[in-house]
Amino acid sequence: MECRPGCGACCTAPSISSPIPGMPQGKPAGVPCVQLGAGARCRIFGHPERPAVCASLQPSQAMCGANRTQAMQWLTWMEQATAPSPPGESPAADKPPRMA
Ligand code: SF4
Repeated sequence: MECRPGCGACCTAPSISSPIPGMPQGKPAGVPCVQLGAGARCRIFGHPERPAVCASLQPSQAMCGANRTQAMQWLTWMEQATAPSPPGESPAADKPPRMA
């Protein structure tokens, strides 16, 4: 599967804990990466400074859905589902969003 042109959802919805050029503390969830350039393309694609987690995230039907809105919903759910929760509490989201 190829990336959807102009999407950038996976460079916006998830948090990234490793340093990114221009974001030395990483990136909070829901904030576009500072390296997201024109056409929602990565300015540092192929460079060693690009976080390893970026290369590990590959497009898929489940993640990308039918449009950017669905991708943002799924990625936001995944961010919440994998966030550490306080002892004794359930994760904030335990089921993926329904894609209409
Ligand atoms: S470094 Fe590039 S691939 Fe990684 S989140 Fe930023 S724009 Fe996206």
